[in-house]
Amino acid sequence: MDKNIDNKSNFSSPLGAGGIDNNGFYGDFGGAYIPEILHGTVERLKAAYFAIKDDATFKAEYYDLLKNYVGRPSPLYFAKRLSAEYGTNIYLKREDLNHTGAHKINNALGQILLAKRMGKTRIIAETGAGQHGVATATACALMGLECIVFMGKTDVERQFLNVQKMRMLGATVEPVTSGNWTLKDATNEAIRYWCSNPDCFYIIGSTVGPHPYPDMVGFFQSVISEEIKWQLKEQVGRDFPDYLMACVGGGSNAMGTYYHYLNDERVKIISAEAGGMGIDSGETAATISIGTTGILHGSKTLLMQNEDGQITEPYSISAGLDYPGIGPAHAFLAKIGRTKVHPINDDEALDAAFELTRLEGIIPAIESAHALALLKKVKDTFKLNDIVVITVSGRGDKDMDTYVKYFPVI
Ligand SMILES: *Cc1c(COP(=O)(O)O)cnc(C)c1O
Repeated sequence: MDKNIDNKSNFSSPLGAGGIDNNGFYGDFGGAYIPEILHGTVERLKAAYFAIKDDATFKAEYYDLLKNYVGRPSPLYFAKRLSAEYGTNIYLKREDLNHTGAHKINNALGQILLAKRMGKTRIIAETGAGQHGVATATACALMGLECIVFMGKTDVERQFLNVQKMRMLGATVEPVTSGNWTLKDATNEAIRYWCSNPDCFYIIGSTVGPHPYPDMVGFFQSVISEEIKWQLKEQVGRDFPDYLMACVGGGSNAMGTYYHYLNDERVKIISAEAGGMGIDSGETAATISIGTTGILHGSKTLLMQNEDGQITEPYSISAGLDYPGIGPAHAFLAKIGRTKVHPINDDEALDAAFELTRLEGIIPAIESAHALALLKKVKDTFKLNDIVVITVSGRGDKDMDTYVKYFPVI
């Protein structure tokens, strides 16, 4: 059994001819809508990023960290009892077992290595639930770089354990009190700070923001599908599944999961977005289902907005999916029909979280539970011999307060 991820990689472009153009557009979506003051900064970032994409020295350094620091490869685990329940073969890609508990560290480490190459000494980041903030603060501690994390004040109060972790790691947490005090506002504040301090490096946590971030974050997460390929080959004798499934907040764990399969028509790709209380309830974050085209945080994409272009406040039980936009690549993939997207409501995600816990002894993050809930949506199409791969993007420790509230009804 070969566990040497260093020799198995394919650092090539994911979207092929139908993919990103030179200006960072995926069809109608993407681009770089940034103030003039950031133009030079973003151009230098683009040049540095495209230079490392095929750089063997960079890759060796990055893959060494993924292996020895993050603990990769993450297992591709055959979930026997879950498979029996759904009458097919379900494999779980265990990003929950990574250092810091989710897939976010893959991207934070890739970007921090790039920042170091560019000679940067100060890192900024935005965070919602705090997972990306913790991953970035971790990477900064590892590299000895200064770290400032912008976080809505509401989230600072809701996710205090992650705030304390970031502080222990040496980061400065800046509570944001503009707008609704949540992720969208933290991102606005990070961009504002970046404009006044264009010398710092902004580590964005998902496949959102101006070009090249959506492409770059997807690229750093593509190690997920790179591993799925050889792990499937090893375990089932072919390197592709019949179904791939993941949850989409901004879209990074999903893009990492799909990356090397986007041009493989044998693979059906299904995404979960957060339905909240239901897509017609006004309490939702189902951007692909109900969004319209607009510009947010430097990128043209689908957004939840009213007729005047004011962003509608999103709602989901899961802080990591609670974003009013969506990565432009996912807007594009849904539009051309390459992915099918189902909104998953809070109660469906909770059921799926308890189901996985009781059948497999794995407590998933509530975000990941949205991906697991897809099983019920598509089970009628499963065949006995199908191979289904679902990414478990994170572990449920951070969600225990939420889960505990539902103990009596389960
Ligand atoms: C942040 C987060 C997500 C959502 O972000 P994506 O960029 O869509 O992957 C999903 N799951 C977990 C565990 C997270 O921490």
